[in-house]
Amino acid sequence: MHNITELPAWERLFKKIIWKQLGEIQGKTILDFGSGEGITADHFAKDNEVIAIEPDEDMLEHAWRDHTYRQIVGDVSALSEFADAAFDIVLCHNVLEYIDDKKSVVQELTRVLKPGGILSIAKHNRAGRIMQMAVLLDDFEKAHALLDGKNSTASKFGEIRYYEDEEIEEWVPKLDVEKTYGIRTFWDLQQNQEKHADEKWQEAMLELDMRVSQMEPFKKIAFFHHLIFKNNQREEIPAENPFMKEAIDEALEGIYNGHGGPFGCVIVKDGKIVGRGHNRVLAIIDSTAHGEISAIRDAEKSLGTHDLSGCELYTTGEPCPMCLNAILWANIEKVYYGCTISDNAKIGFRDEKFDQLSGGRDTFKDFLVCIDRKACQKLFAVYSNLEHEIY
Ligand SMILES: [Zn+2]
Repeated sequence: MHNITELPAWERLFKKIIWKQLGEIQGKTILDFGSGEGITADHFAKDNEVIAIEPDEDMLEHAWRDHTYRQIVGDVSALSEFADAAFDIVLCHNVLEYIDDKKSVVQELTRVLKPGGILSIAKHNRAGRIMQMAVLLDDFEKAHALLDGKNSTASKFGEIRYYEDEEIEEWVPKLDVEKTYGIRTFWDLQQNQEKHADEKWQEAMLELDMRVSQMEPFKKIAFFHHLIFKNNQREEIPAENPFMKEAIDEALEGIYNGHGGPFGCVIVKDGKIVGRGHNRVLAIIDSTAHGEISAIRDAEKSLGTHDLSGCELYTTGEPCPMCLNAILWANIEKVYYGCTISDNAKIGFRDEKFDQLSGGRDTFKDFLVCIDRKACQKLFAVYSNLEHEIY
């Protein structure tokens, strides 16, 4: 069994920081591209399904394999065996600076990333490297060269071909930066190597480095940057009924923005949508902000009346008793829903409990019609796979 203390002190701190920034990850499919000696792949393989890709066979001879993960020997072309959207999380740490065609690598990594998935890129930071040359290595020539926009070299891997953080989004517009961190801001400024080896010193440095890792002035001079991107491409869910399709799209808007559960709703009058809404319970901290309530408010506002007679309502999940009563108060004439109350329960919602309190829903049999259940179940599955907060 390997222990992180086997690593050189600087590498240990680097890994600890990057793992902390990624947070607790469980039950995900992870690709580690440029996995090196597999230390990160092995770390996440404990609780996740991990596939690691590394071209350097010498490195693989020493790879850490305490937990089970699949190792592929290869480069970006090895990704062709994977379907689109195969991974929840893709890691690419200190790899791109050694590759010429960075753009097509990032495009390929995004292709295999699920909509809403996370791409974690660690990279050298030019300003940090200049600090290192000037302050630690007394190499003024290299410091000047770096300031002039020239490349640098790393002892182990050859030329470091710098690129800027902003370039990544230009290469792949469907990546949105979620977070940018600095890594190793102070560490190397301490030149006493005995201190580096001292566990207590390391812990204190880790705490301080984590504290400043999101503060702009410190980020600018950190030796490395850790960028976390989200794939903003969204799942397309076809539906048979065009109004249910609108309700599903409304729900997707909500779940990809973390507003609440997968509940979207449209209200239709004379074949036209007059109101729409999705669940915003988390977004506005309001337990009554269900999709149906939001859509009713929207429709009444746009029609200028509290009386929605002649309207029909389409909703991705069978309405809860609160919404059902609001629908009746608004004089809506028919409700089409996708997922059933039992589908709601499967993804963690408590409708059944409230139904029992209000005496069941058998009396509403003709009023409530189930359509497009399969499409809405797909929506619920998309929601279940996203990071989300249960309420
Ligand atoms: Zn409701």
